[in-house]
Amino acid sequence: MGKQLVAIIGGGPYGLSLASHLAARNIAHRIFGQPMAFWSQIASAGSRRYLKSYCFGTNISSPHPGATFADYNEPLGLETFEPCSIANFAAYGRWFQERHVDWIEPVDVANVSRRGQGYRLTLDNGDEVEATGVIVATGLSNFAKVPHVLRALPGPVVTHTARVDSFAAFQGLEVAVIGSGQSALEAAALLHEAGASPRLLVRKPSTLWMTRGSRTPTLWQRVRWPISALGGSPKSWALMQVPGAFHRLPACGRALVLKNFLPPEGAWWLRERVEALVPTEHDTAVVEARAIGNRVSLRLRQGSDGKERELLVDHVIAGTGYEVNVERISFLAPELRSTIARQGSAPRLDSSFQSSIPGLRFAGPASSMSFGPVFRFVAGAEYTARTIAAALSRPAGARA
Ligand SMILES: Cc1cc2nc3c(=O)[nH]c(=O)nc-3n(C[C@H](O)[C@H](O)[C@H](O)COP(=O)(O)OP(=O)(O)OC[C@H]3O[C@@H](n4cnc5c(N)ncnc54)[C@H](O)[C@@H]3O)c2cc1C
Repeated sequence: MGKQLVAIIGGGPYGLSLASHLAARNIAHRIFGQPMAFWSQIASAGSRRYLKSYCFGTNISSPHPGATFADYNEPLGLETFEPCSIANFAAYGRWFQERHVDWIEPVDVANVSRRGQGYRLTLDNGDEVEATGVIVATGLSNFAKVPHVLRALPGPVVTHTARVDSFAAFQGLEVAVIGSGQSALEAAALLHEAGASPRLLVRKPSTLWMTRGSRTPTLWQRVRWPISALGGSPKSWALMQVPGAFHRLPACGRALVLKNFLPPEGAWWLRERVEALVPTEHDTAVVEARAIGNRVSLRLRQGSDGKERELLVDHVIAGTGYEVNVERISFLAPELRSTIARQGSAPRLDSSFQSSIPGLRFAGPASSMSFGPVFRFVAGAEYTARTIAAALSRPAGARA
């Protein structure tokens, strides 16, 4: 294959940042995907949905000034610290795309396969594209994790939080919400506010809530709990200062840091919308789930003595998180997928986000096993875009 052409898959914060940085270095590329589709879907599923991250830590990156989330919010009189609405973030992303990445092609990629030293992409509209490199920036799509015990239930009675299109559709229903992280807690609040009767089932003995960061911290607070894009802790702050350092840790060290970094917890602004309003059963594990007619029977094991009881509900919502798994990226051809070297089930990436297949890179949450927790969040987009753009602008023989 002749001249370089890089295909970016995904029109979210990572894809848009990459396109903006590649363009600034005159690197030939095309970007595919509906701009900000993931965020628009979250925003339309329910109102009063907010980012967990601060405004300053949720920027789509451009080498040009005037493109931050605050640059968008300020003139409109919108929040510039926290909590920022997800609907505004989606609107910011579309504003960014119109100004900085107006060449995006709003079509999904159906298939990517190897072709000689390069790649062939088949788009949803049937068009084919040949590229020398591919960057997969498809966020959490494909990675929703549903526990085994719920997998036997028929589709209409169980939904992962990522697939809820409308919380209002649950009005009048009894819903069990499983999990104790932000997604589960937010789902419980939104269900309650939509007129459903949610019940939270939490394996842990208690629910953790984040504390509110001060807008005007004292010197002591700034030293003890330095605020960074990932929250107020020295560990988060350190990771944000040197985002590439995590990659230099040995593989087992990385896995350990990732596992223990941010425990499942709810944002402070969600607390009053859940506590005292949504019945919550802690120390509770679902050990069996069966469909009975159009309802669901859950067998719960509770407390230290493991007492069991049955709970009958109309629907189950799994707020059970995400797991990066190369096997589940369905648009990668099976023969390509199977040759990608892994760390756990995630792709193993070199220092320029390149997988073991030359020219195939992963950005965003899919890179977090190699690059750390920062890359599960929008905050990692700047480092990713700069690093990949720099790597691609080196002459072919000198690339990592
Ligand atoms: C409920 C919820 C709240 C969150 N809140 C925050 C927060 O407050 N702050 C934060 O930093 N992070 C938050 N996150 C994490 C967030 O998902 C990531 O930070 C962020 O989405 C990463 O950006 P991205 O560009 O990698 O992914 P996305 O924004 O998901 O963009 C990827 C895009 O790729 C598209 N796509 C998928 N498949 C294809 C295909 N085959 N062809 C073309 N396009 C495709 C998708 O439609 C999607 O629009 C939250 C996640 C969830 C689920």
